[in-house]
Amino acid sequence: MSSTRISHDDVAGLKSGRWPIGLNTSSVCYRIGHTLIDTGPPNQWKAVRRFVEDEHEAHGIERVVCTHHHEDHAGNAARIQELLDVPVYAPETSLKRLQEGFSIEWYRRVVWGTPPLLNAEPLPEQLPLSIGATLHAHPAPGHSDDMVCLHVPERRWLFTADLFLSPRVAYLRFDEDVYALAQSLHAMAQLPADVLFCGHRGVVDAGATALKQKARYLEALCGQVKRRYHREGQSLDAIQRELLGREGILRWFTGGDFSKANLIAACVRSKNDNANDLPDMISTPTPMQ
Ligand SMILES: [Zn+2]
Repeated sequence: MSSTRISHDDVAGLKSGRWPIGLNTSSVCYRIGHTLIDTGPPNQWKAVRRFVEDEHEAHGIERVVCTHHHEDHAGNAARIQELLDVPVYAPETSLKRLQEGFSIEWYRRVVWGTPPLLNAEPLPEQLPLSIGATLHAHPAPGHSDDMVCLHVPERRWLFTADLFLSPRVAYLRFDEDVYALAQSLHAMAQLPADVLFCGHRGVVDAGATALKQKARYLEALCGQVKRRYHREGQSLDAIQRELLGREGILRWFTGGDFSKANLIAACVRSKNDNANDLPDMISTPTPMQ
């Protein structure tokens, strides 16, 4: 596993951790002005600590913001809080889970580690940044119920946490809501943003277009799955093989937590009824990169 630094305008980042399981398991923490956004997974603390110390020495870090409770985002916040004696902010709905802990499946403990408990403060809707801009928190449920995206309108930047990841995904976690995900993608695409700072991929250009593309893909997939299941009577297995292909190592490794079957089942459950029919978009799905 390796780590790489990211630099874009006034934003610095560190991407660390990668497992070859067909899923992008590396995580990015970003610094914008004196604010750190997300903190990387607990088992990457060595690399994250070096990044945080370097950035603190050069620019000064005065606060940490976590986008949601997952360990690959909030995993080092308690350690950074202790190291730098700075406040940590997280969405109101994340606070109890961060303070008391939450269940983490064994593969997540292997891939990302177990985070120390964290006392965070509720994230305000707006935080002033030292670069003459403001950080606006926007709820973006779907991936998790507590996740926010962080928008910097003056710079047309959007920190998307786990909302984007890839224009097309073939796997879904068992607890993700594909309808809410598509709704959040549409909502965030309305914000003026040219550049996305993805929590796993890094810098993504043409931000709004990328978000809309993924929303349309999910809606098209839901439409295809529902039509085949309800109208044509195909089995979920057959639909999955035809649209997404066979399961890969990821389902086995995660004990079914991440799977293509989860995505197909979520499409059947989806409330989305006005899906576009875009078969060319879903003929060759790619796993998250
Ligand atoms: Zn997450």
